[in-house]
Amino acid sequence: MTLTVLNPATEEPIAELEQAGTEEADAAVARAKSTYPAWSAVAPADRARLLRRLATLVEENLEELARIESQNVGKPISGARGEIGMVAQVFHFYAGAVDKHGGETIPVAGGVAATFREPLGVVGLIVPWNFPANIASWKLGPALACGNTIVLKPAELTPLSALRLGELCLEAGIPEGVVNVLVGKGSVVGQHLIEHPDVAKIAFTGSTEVGRLVMRGAAGTIKRVTLELGGKSANVIFEDADLEQAAAAAPYSVFDNAGQDCCARSRILVQRSVYDRFLGLLVDATRGVKVGDPSDESTEMGPLVSAAHRETVASFVDGEPTYRGEIPEGAGYWYPCTIVEASNDDRIAREEVFGPVAAVIPFEDEADAIRIANDTVYGLSGSIWTRDGARALRVARALETGNISVNSNSSVRVTTPFGGFKQSGIGRELGPFALEHYTELKNVFISTV
Ligand code: NDP
Repeated sequence: MTLTVLNPATEEPIAELEQAGTEEADAAVARAKSTYPAWSAVAPADRARLLRRLATLVEENLEELARIESQNVGKPISGARGEIGMVAQVFHFYAGAVDKHGGETIPVAGGVAATFREPLGVVGLIVPWNFPANIASWKLGPALACGNTIVLKPAELTPLSALRLGELCLEAGIPEGVVNVLVGKGSVVGQHLIEHPDVAKIAFTGSTEVGRLVMRGAAGTIKRVTLELGGKSANVIFEDADLEQAAAAAPYSVFDNAGQDCCARSRILVQRSVYDRFLGLLVDATRGVKVGDPSDESTEMGPLVSAAHRETVASFVDGEPTYRGEIPEGAGYWYPCTIVEASNDDRIAREEVFGPVAAVIPFEDEADAIRIANDTVYGLSGSIWTRDGARALRVARALETGNISVNSNSSVRVTTPFGGFKQSGIGRELGPFALEHYTELKNVFISTV
Protein backbone atom coordinates (compact mmCIF):
# COMPACT_ATOMS: atom_id res chain seq x y z
CA MET A 1 0.00 0.00 0.00
CA THR A 2 1.28 3.46 -0.82
CA LEU A 3 1.07 6.38 1.56
CA THR A 4 0.60 9.92 0.23
CA VAL A 5 2.29 12.50 2.45
CA LEU A 6 0.71 15.98 2.33
CA ASN A 7 1.90 19.51 3.02
CA PRO A 8 -0.72 20.77 5.50
CA ALA A 9 -0.23 24.39 4.39
CA THR A 10 -1.12 23.63 0.75
CA GLU A 11 -2.93 20.25 1.00
CA GLU A 12 -0.64 19.12 -1.85
CA PRO A 13 1.20 15.77 -1.94
CA ILE A 14 4.91 16.01 -1.19
CA ALA A 15 5.82 12.31 -1.19
CA GLU A 16 4.51 8.84 -2.02
CA LEU A 17 5.90 6.09 0.18
CA GLU A 18 5.51 2.35 0.50
CA GLN A 19 3.74 1.45 3.74
CA ALA A 20 5.17 -1.32 5.83
CA GLY A 21 2.99 -4.09 7.21
CA THR A 22 3.67 -6.70 9.86
CA GLU A 23 6.01 -8.68 7.60
CA GLU A 24 8.23 -5.63 7.08
CA ALA A 25 8.04 -4.92 10.83
CA ASP A 26 9.26 -8.47 11.52
CA ALA A 27 12.11 -7.96 9.04
CA ALA A 28 13.10 -4.65 10.69
CA VAL A 29 13.14 -6.27 14.14
CA ALA A 30 15.17 -9.19 12.77
CA ARG A 31 17.73 -6.76 11.27
CA ALA A 32 17.97 -4.85 14.53
CA LYS A 33 18.34 -8.12 16.45
CA SER A 34 21.11 -9.42 14.21
CA THR A 35 23.14 -6.19 14.43
CA TYR A 36 22.73 -5.89 18.22
CA PRO A 37 25.70 -8.07 19.30
CA ALA A 38 28.15 -6.13 17.12
CA TRP A 39 26.71 -2.68 17.91
CA SER A 40 26.60 -3.23 21.64
CA ALA A 41 30.24 -4.38 21.49
CA VAL A 42 31.50 -1.22 19.74
CA ALA A 43 34.08 0.43 22.00
CA PRO A 44 32.59 3.41 23.86
CA ALA A 45 34.93 5.94 22.27
CA ASP A 46 34.01 4.68 18.79
CA ARG A 47 30.28 4.74 19.53
CA ALA A 48 30.71 8.29 20.82
CA ARG A 49 32.59 9.26 17.66
CA LEU A 50 29.78 7.88 15.46
CA LEU A 51 27.13 9.81 17.42
CA ARG A 52 29.28 12.95 17.23
CA ARG A 53 29.52 12.50 13.46
CA LEU A 54 25.73 12.11 13.28
CA ALA A 55 25.32 15.36 15.25
CA THR A 56 27.67 17.16 12.86
CA LEU A 57 25.84 15.79 9.82
CA VAL A 58 22.55 17.08 11.25
CA GLU A 59 24.20 20.50 11.61
CA GLU A 60 25.53 20.36 8.06
CA ASN A 61 22.10 19.38 6.72
CA LEU A 62 20.14 21.63 9.06
CA GLU A 63 18.51 23.75 6.38
CA GLU A 64 17.35 20.72 4.38
CA LEU A 65 15.99 18.96 7.48
CA ALA A 66 14.25 22.14 8.64
CA ARG A 67 12.57 22.53 5.24
CA ILE A 68 11.44 18.90 5.27
CA GLU A 69 9.95 19.38 8.75
CA SER A 70 8.36 22.71 7.85
CA GLN A 71 6.69 21.30 4.71
CA ASN A 72 5.59 18.06 6.29
CA VAL A 73 4.19 19.46 9.56
CA GLY A 74 3.30 23.00 8.45
CA LYS A 75 5.75 24.50 10.96
CA PRO A 76 7.13 28.00 10.50
CA ILE A 77 10.61 27.63 9.03
CA SER A 78 12.27 29.68 11.79
CA GLY A 79 10.90 27.32 14.47
CA ALA A 80 11.80 24.26 12.41
CA ARG A 81 15.43 25.43 12.25
CA GLY A 82 15.49 25.72 16.04
CA GLU A 83 14.09 22.20 16.40
CA ILE A 84 16.67 20.66 14.06
CA GLY A 85 19.35 22.60 15.93
CA MET A 86 18.16 20.85 19.06
CA VAL A 87 18.36 17.45 17.31
CA ALA A 88 22.07 18.09 16.69
CA GLN A 89 22.59 19.19 20.31
CA VAL A 90 20.84 16.05 21.56
CA PHE A 91 23.20 13.82 19.55
CA HIS A 92 26.21 15.83 20.76
CA PHE A 93 25.03 15.43 24.35
CA TYR A 94 24.59 11.65 24.09
CA ALA A 95 27.91 11.30 22.21
CA GLY A 96 29.44 12.77 25.36
CA ALA A 97 27.34 10.54 27.61
CA VAL A 98 28.43 7.18 26.13
CA ASP A 99 31.37 6.72 28.53
CA LYS A 100 29.93 8.60 31.49
CA HIS A 101 27.09 6.28 32.39
CA GLY A 102 28.95 3.92 34.64
CA GLY A 103 28.19 1.52 37.43
CA GLU A 104 29.20 1.44 41.12
CA THR A 105 30.99 -0.79 43.53
CA ILE A 106 29.07 -1.56 46.69
CA PRO A 107 30.64 -2.66 50.00
CA VAL A 108 29.43 -6.17 50.82
CA ALA A 109 30.66 -9.01 53.03
CA GLY A 110 32.91 -11.64 51.47
CA GLY A 111 33.74 -9.90 48.23
CA VAL A 112 32.90 -7.09 45.90
CA ALA A 113 29.59 -6.15 44.29
CA ALA A 114 29.73 -4.15 41.10
CA THR A 115 26.91 -2.81 38.97
CA PHE A 116 26.87 -2.65 35.19
CA ARG A 117 24.45 -0.83 32.92
CA GLU A 118 23.64 -3.27 30.14
CA PRO A 119 21.82 -2.30 26.96
CA LEU A 120 18.31 -3.69 26.51
CA GLY A 121 18.60 -5.06 22.96
CA VAL A 122 16.15 -4.01 20.26
CA VAL A 123 14.07 -0.98 21.23
CA GLY A 124 10.95 0.24 19.42
CA LEU A 125 10.54 4.02 19.18
CA ILE A 126 7.02 5.20 18.31
CA VAL A 127 6.87 8.94 17.74
CA PRO A 128 4.15 11.47 16.90
CA TRP A 129 3.68 14.13 14.23
CA ASN A 130 3.99 17.33 16.24
CA PHE A 131 7.81 17.42 16.66
CA PRO A 132 8.82 14.43 14.51
CA ALA A 133 12.62 14.84 14.30
CA ASN A 134 13.01 16.34 17.74
CA ILE A 135 11.13 13.65 19.61
CA ALA A 136 12.81 10.92 17.54
CA SER A 137 16.23 12.31 18.58
CA TRP A 138 15.29 12.36 22.28
CA LYS A 139 14.88 8.58 22.02
CA LEU A 140 17.50 7.73 19.38
CA GLY A 141 20.31 9.58 21.20
CA PRO A 142 20.20 7.72 24.54
CA ALA A 143 19.15 4.42 22.92
CA LEU A 144 22.20 4.42 20.61
CA ALA A 145 24.55 5.76 23.29
CA CYS A 146 23.66 2.81 25.53
CA GLY A 147 24.29 0.25 22.76
CA ASN A 148 20.76 -0.67 21.73
CA THR A 149 19.57 -1.21 18.16
CA ILE A 150 16.43 0.45 16.94
CA VAL A 151 13.19 0.24 15.03
CA LEU A 152 11.84 3.78 14.68
CA LYS A 153 8.20 4.21 13.68
CA PRO A 154 7.35 7.80 12.75
CA ALA A 155 3.74 8.99 12.53
CA GLU A 156 2.13 8.25 9.17
CA LEU A 157 1.40 11.94 8.65
CA THR A 158 5.04 13.00 9.11
CA PRO A 159 7.57 10.30 8.21
CA LEU A 160 9.95 12.39 6.07
CA SER A 161 12.43 13.74 8.62
CA ALA A 162 12.78 10.30 10.25
CA LEU A 163 13.63 8.77 6.87
CA ARG A 164 16.28 11.45 6.29
CA LEU A 165 17.68 10.94 9.81
CA GLY A 166 17.94 7.21 9.02
CA GLU A 167 20.05 8.07 5.94
CA LEU A 168 22.27 10.39 7.98
CA CYS A 169 22.87 7.59 10.52
CA LEU A 170 24.29 5.47 7.69
CA GLU A 171 26.31 8.39 6.34
CA ALA A 172 27.76 8.89 9.82
CA GLY A 173 29.02 5.31 9.74
CA ILE A 174 26.46 3.74 12.08
CA PRO A 175 26.24 0.21 10.61
CA GLU A 176 23.27 -0.76 8.49
CA GLY A 177 20.55 -2.45 10.55
CA VAL A 178 21.27 -0.51 13.76
CA VAL A 179 18.63 2.15 13.02
CA ASN A 180 15.64 0.87 11.04
CA VAL A 181 12.93 3.37 10.06
CA LEU A 182 9.54 1.73 9.57
CA VAL A 183 6.82 3.75 7.83
CA GLY A 184 3.42 2.24 8.56
CA LYS A 185 0.20 2.52 10.49
CA GLY A 186 0.40 2.74 14.25
CA SER A 187 -2.48 0.34 14.70
CA VAL A 188 -0.67 -2.24 12.52
CA VAL A 189 3.12 -1.97 12.75
CA GLY A 190 3.13 0.05 15.98
CA GLN A 191 0.95 -2.52 17.70
CA HIS A 192 3.10 -5.32 16.24
CA LEU A 193 6.26 -3.80 17.73
CA ILE A 194 4.56 -3.44 21.12
CA GLU A 195 3.71 -7.15 21.18
CA HIS A 196 6.87 -8.40 19.48
CA PRO A 197 8.83 -10.87 21.66
CA ASP A 198 12.18 -9.64 20.25
CA VAL A 199 11.54 -5.99 21.15
CA ALA A 200 12.79 -5.28 24.66
CA LYS A 201 11.34 -1.84 25.16
CA ILE A 202 8.90 0.67 23.66
CA ALA A 203 9.57 4.37 24.00
CA PHE A 204 6.36 6.11 23.01
CA THR A 205 5.24 9.72 22.62
CA GLY A 206 1.65 10.45 21.67
CA SER A 207 -1.86 10.42 23.05
CA THR A 208 -2.72 9.11 26.50
CA GLU A 209 -5.24 6.80 24.81
CA VAL A 210 -2.57 5.05 22.72
CA GLY A 211 -0.25 5.17 25.75
CA ARG A 212 -2.76 2.89 27.49
CA LEU A 213 -2.64 0.49 24.51
CA VAL A 214 1.16 0.46 24.75
CA MET A 215 1.02 -0.52 28.44
CA ARG A 216 -1.62 -3.15 27.78
CA GLY A 217 0.24 -4.63 24.77
CA ALA A 218 3.56 -4.60 26.60
CA ALA A 219 2.13 -6.69 29.44
CA GLY A 220 2.34 -9.90 27.38
CA THR A 221 6.13 -9.80 27.27
CA ILE A 222 6.73 -7.59 30.37
CA LYS A 223 8.26 -5.10 27.99
CA ARG A 224 9.86 -1.95 29.37
CA VAL A 225 7.91 1.16 28.45
CA THR A 226 8.47 4.86 28.70
CA LEU A 227 5.53 7.07 27.84
CA GLU A 228 5.35 10.77 27.12
CA LEU A 229 1.67 11.52 26.75
CA GLY A 230 -0.84 14.35 26.79
CA GLY A 231 -1.02 17.48 28.89
CA LYS A 232 -3.37 20.22 29.99
CA SER A 233 -0.84 22.51 31.56
CA ALA A 234 -1.65 25.57 33.63
CA ASN A 235 -0.07 28.98 33.18
CA VAL A 236 -0.72 30.57 36.59
CA ILE A 237 -0.70 34.38 36.67
CA PHE A 238 -0.65 35.93 40.16
CA GLU A 239 -1.71 39.53 40.80
CA ASP A 240 1.87 40.53 41.71
CA ALA A 241 3.32 39.29 38.39
CA ASP A 242 4.75 41.52 35.70
CA LEU A 243 1.45 41.32 33.82
CA GLU A 244 2.78 42.90 30.61
CA GLN A 245 5.58 40.35 30.41
CA ALA A 246 3.31 37.42 31.28
CA ALA A 247 0.69 38.49 28.71
CA ALA A 248 3.29 39.07 25.99
CA ALA A 249 4.66 35.54 26.51
CA ALA A 250 1.37 33.67 27.04
CA PRO A 251 0.21 33.46 23.39
CA TYR A 252 3.41 31.68 22.34
CA SER A 253 3.05 29.16 25.16
CA VAL A 254 -0.21 27.92 23.67
CA PHE A 255 -0.20 28.95 19.99
CA ASP A 256 3.37 27.87 19.14
CA ASN A 257 3.31 24.89 16.78
CA ALA A 258 -0.38 25.82 16.31
CA GLY A 259 -1.02 24.52 19.83
CA GLN A 260 0.04 20.99 18.82
CA ASP A 261 2.34 20.70 21.78
CA CYS A 262 1.96 18.42 24.77
CA CYS A 263 3.45 21.25 26.91
CA ALA A 264 0.98 23.88 25.66
CA ARG A 265 -0.14 26.08 28.56
CA SER A 266 -3.72 25.77 27.33
CA ARG A 267 -5.26 26.68 30.71
CA ILE A 268 -4.38 30.25 31.65
CA LEU A 269 -5.27 30.71 35.33
CA VAL A 270 -5.51 34.38 36.29
CA GLN A 271 -6.02 35.85 39.79
CA ARG A 272 -9.45 37.49 39.80
CA SER A 273 -8.15 40.88 41.01
CA VAL A 274 -6.18 41.31 37.74
CA TYR A 275 -8.36 39.15 35.48
CA ASP A 276 -9.86 41.88 33.26
CA ARG A 277 -6.59 43.74 32.86
CA PHE A 278 -4.68 40.56 32.00
CA LEU A 279 -7.35 39.38 29.54
CA GLY A 280 -7.12 42.72 27.68
CA LEU A 281 -3.32 42.43 27.48
CA LEU A 282 -3.57 38.79 26.37
CA VAL A 283 -5.98 39.60 23.54
CA ASP A 284 -3.75 42.47 22.39
CA ALA A 285 -0.66 40.23 22.43
CA THR A 286 -2.51 37.46 20.55
CA ARG A 287 -3.46 39.93 17.80
CA GLY A 288 0.30 40.20 17.14
CA VAL A 289 0.82 36.47 16.40
CA LYS A 290 1.71 36.24 12.71
CA VAL A 291 -0.22 33.34 11.10
CA GLY A 292 0.56 32.34 7.53
CA ASP A 293 2.84 30.65 5.02
CA PRO A 294 5.30 28.47 7.02
CA SER A 295 8.08 29.17 4.52
CA ASP A 296 7.91 32.92 5.28
CA GLU A 297 10.72 33.86 7.66
CA SER A 298 8.45 36.04 9.81
CA THR A 299 5.60 33.53 10.24
CA GLU A 300 4.95 32.50 13.85
CA MET A 301 2.08 30.04 13.42
CA GLY A 302 1.22 27.68 10.57
CA PRO A 303 -1.75 25.39 9.92
CA LEU A 304 -2.85 22.31 11.84
CA VAL A 305 -1.40 19.00 10.71
CA SER A 306 -4.48 17.54 8.97
CA ALA A 307 -8.10 18.12 8.02
CA ALA A 308 -9.24 15.49 10.52
CA HIS A 309 -7.29 17.16 13.31
CA ARG A 310 -8.79 20.56 12.43
CA GLU A 311 -12.25 19.04 12.86
CA THR A 312 -11.29 17.71 16.28
CA VAL A 313 -9.93 21.10 17.36
CA ALA A 314 -13.02 22.92 16.07
CA SER A 315 -15.29 20.58 18.04
CA PHE A 316 -13.99 22.14 21.28
CA VAL A 317 -15.22 25.64 20.51
CA ASP A 318 -18.97 26.25 20.62
CA GLY A 319 -20.44 29.70 20.53
CA GLU A 320 -18.54 32.94 20.07
CA PRO A 321 -15.12 32.92 21.73
CA THR A 322 -13.68 35.97 23.53
CA TYR A 323 -11.18 36.34 20.70
CA ARG A 324 -10.73 34.70 17.32
CA GLY A 325 -7.77 35.65 15.11
CA GLU A 326 -7.31 35.80 11.36
CA ILE A 327 -6.28 32.94 9.06
CA PRO A 328 -5.14 32.87 5.44
CA GLU A 329 -7.74 32.15 2.77
CA GLY A 330 -7.54 29.15 0.44
CA ALA A 331 -5.92 25.77 0.87
CA GLY A 332 -4.37 24.62 4.14
CA TYR A 333 -5.69 23.26 7.43
CA TRP A 334 -5.81 26.66 9.12
CA TYR A 335 -7.33 27.33 12.50
CA PRO A 336 -7.22 30.77 14.13
CA CYS A 337 -5.73 31.69 17.50
CA THR A 338 -8.73 31.44 19.81
CA ILE A 339 -9.27 32.59 23.39
CA VAL A 340 -12.26 31.40 25.42
CA GLU A 341 -13.25 32.19 29.01
CA ALA A 342 -14.03 29.01 30.90
CA SER A 343 -14.43 27.22 34.18
CA ASN A 344 -12.12 24.33 35.01
CA ASP A 345 -15.10 21.96 34.71
CA ASP A 346 -15.68 22.75 31.03
CA ARG A 347 -14.58 20.22 28.40
CA ILE A 348 -12.15 22.80 26.98
CA ALA A 349 -10.32 22.86 30.33
CA ARG A 350 -10.33 19.10 30.89
CA GLU A 351 -9.32 17.58 27.54
CA GLU A 352 -6.23 18.13 25.46
CA VAL A 353 -7.31 20.26 22.46
CA PHE A 354 -3.92 20.15 20.72
CA GLY A 355 -4.80 23.27 18.75
CA PRO A 356 -4.49 27.05 19.13
CA VAL A 357 -7.24 27.43 21.72
CA ALA A 358 -6.55 28.94 25.15
CA ALA A 359 -9.00 28.69 28.05
CA VAL A 360 -8.75 31.57 30.54
CA ILE A 361 -9.92 30.66 34.05
CA PRO A 362 -10.11 32.95 37.11
CA PHE A 363 -8.86 31.99 40.60
CA GLU A 364 -9.16 33.66 44.02
CA ASP A 365 -5.91 33.03 45.91
CA GLU A 366 -2.82 30.81 46.05
CA ALA A 367 -4.66 27.78 47.44
CA ASP A 368 -7.38 28.11 44.79
CA ALA A 369 -4.74 28.37 42.03
CA ILE A 370 -3.03 25.18 43.22
CA ARG A 371 -6.36 23.36 43.52
CA ILE A 372 -7.45 24.28 39.99
CA ALA A 373 -4.05 23.67 38.40
CA ASN A 374 -3.93 20.17 39.94
CA ASP A 375 -7.55 19.37 39.08
CA THR A 376 -6.67 17.44 35.92
CA VAL A 377 -5.63 13.89 35.07
CA TYR A 378 -2.51 15.31 33.39
CA GLY A 379 0.75 16.63 34.85
CA LEU A 380 3.29 17.46 32.20
CA SER A 381 4.24 21.10 32.31
CA GLY A 382 3.21 24.56 33.47
CA SER A 383 4.27 28.06 34.50
CA ILE A 384 4.00 30.39 37.48
CA TRP A 385 4.20 34.18 37.08
CA THR A 386 4.85 36.13 40.29
CA ARG A 387 7.43 38.54 41.74
CA ASP A 388 7.30 36.74 45.12
CA GLY A 389 10.15 34.21 45.14
CA ALA A 390 8.85 32.27 48.15
CA ARG A 391 5.42 31.93 46.56
CA ALA A 392 7.01 30.80 43.29
CA LEU A 393 8.83 27.98 45.08
CA ARG A 394 5.82 27.05 47.25
CA VAL A 395 3.53 26.76 44.25
CA ALA A 396 6.17 25.02 42.11
CA ARG A 397 6.49 22.34 44.80
CA ALA A 398 2.72 22.00 45.20
CA LEU A 399 1.92 21.49 41.52
CA GLU A 400 1.64 17.88 40.37
CA THR A 401 3.64 18.27 37.19
CA GLY A 402 6.95 17.14 35.75
CA ASN A 403 8.19 20.45 34.35
CA ILE A 404 7.41 23.85 35.75
CA SER A 405 8.92 27.22 34.93
CA VAL A 406 8.81 30.47 36.91
CA ASN A 407 8.38 33.73 35.00
CA SER A 408 9.05 31.74 31.83
CA ASN A 409 7.12 29.29 29.65
CA SER A 410 9.96 27.01 28.61
CA SER A 411 9.79 23.28 29.29
CA VAL A 412 12.44 21.46 27.33
CA ARG A 413 16.22 21.58 27.48
CA VAL A 414 18.78 19.06 26.24
CA THR A 415 20.29 18.63 29.71
CA THR A 416 17.22 18.59 32.00
CA PRO A 417 14.67 15.84 32.66
CA PHE A 418 11.44 15.95 30.70
CA GLY A 419 8.35 13.86 31.44
CA GLY A 420 5.05 13.73 33.19
CA PHE A 421 3.26 13.08 36.46
CA LYS A 422 -0.09 11.26 36.52
CA GLN A 423 -1.55 10.38 33.09
CA SER A 424 1.07 12.47 31.28
CA GLY A 425 3.44 9.54 31.26
CA ILE A 426 6.10 7.35 32.77
CA GLY A 427 9.85 7.96 32.75
CA ARG A 428 11.99 10.93 31.83
CA GLU A 429 13.62 11.92 28.57
CA LEU A 430 16.70 14.08 27.89
CA GLY A 431 19.77 14.82 29.97
CA PRO A 432 21.51 11.98 31.79
CA PHE A 433 18.08 10.93 33.12
CA ALA A 434 17.03 9.20 29.87
CA LEU A 435 19.98 6.81 29.97
CA GLU A 436 18.59 4.70 32.79
CA HIS A 437 15.53 3.93 30.64
CA TYR A 438 17.69 2.39 27.91
CA THR A 439 19.71 0.08 30.16
CA GLU A 440 19.16 -2.67 32.70
CA LEU A 441 21.07 -2.46 35.95
CA LYS A 442 23.04 -5.67 36.58
CA ASN A 443 24.72 -6.55 39.87
CA VAL A 444 27.78 -8.81 39.85
CA PHE A 445 29.15 -10.25 43.10
CA ILE A 446 32.76 -11.46 43.09
CA SER A 447 33.76 -13.56 46.06
CA THR A 448 37.15 -12.77 47.56
CA VAL A 449 37.16 -15.63 50.05
P1 NDP B 1 -1.47 8.96 18.51
O1 NDP B 1 -1.18 8.72 19.93
O2 NDP B 1 -2.49 8.13 17.82
O3 NDP B 1 -0.12 8.86 17.61
C1 NDP B 1 1.18 8.86 18.12
C2 NDP B 1 1.99 7.72 17.49
O4 NDP B 1 1.43 6.47 17.91
C3 NDP B 1 1.97 7.70 15.97
O5 NDP B 1 3.21 7.24 15.48
C4 NDP B 1 0.89 6.69 15.68
O6 NDP B 1 1.01 6.09 14.41
C5 NDP B 1 1.13 5.68 16.77
N1 NDP B 1 -0.02 4.81 17.04
C6 NDP B 1 -1.34 5.07 16.86
N2 NDP B 1 -2.09 4.02 17.26
C7 NDP B 1 -1.22 3.08 17.68
C8 NDP B 1 -1.38 1.76 18.20
N3 NDP B 1 -2.58 1.20 18.36
N4 NDP B 1 -0.28 1.09 18.54
C9 NDP B 1 0.95 1.64 18.40
N5 NDP B 1 1.16 2.86 17.90
C10 NDP B 1 0.09 3.59 17.56
O7 NDP B 1 -1.84 10.46 18.36
P2 NDP B 1 -2.78 11.10 17.24
O8 NDP B 1 -1.95 11.29 16.07
O9 NDP B 1 -4.02 10.33 17.01
O10 NDP B 1 -3.20 12.44 17.98
C11 NDP B 1 -4.36 12.42 18.82
C12 NDP B 1 -4.16 13.27 20.03
O11 NDP B 1 -3.07 12.75 20.77
C13 NDP B 1 -3.77 14.70 19.74
O12 NDP B 1 -4.88 15.46 19.43
C14 NDP B 1 -3.12 15.05 21.04
O13 NDP B 1 -4.12 15.35 21.98
C15 NDP B 1 -2.42 13.78 21.45
N6 NDP B 1 -0.98 13.78 21.05
C16 NDP B 1 -0.06 14.04 22.00
C17 NDP B 1 1.26 14.12 21.64
C18 NDP B 1 2.33 14.44 22.62
O14 NDP B 1 3.34 15.04 22.24
N7 NDP B 1 2.21 14.01 23.85
C19 NDP B 1 1.71 13.91 20.26
C20 NDP B 1 0.65 13.58 19.35
C21 NDP B 1 -0.64 13.52 19.77
P3 NDP B 1 0.22 6.61 13.12
O15 NDP B 1 0.00 8.05 13.26
O16 NDP B 1 1.14 6.28 12.02
O17 NDP B 1 -1.02 5.82 13.05
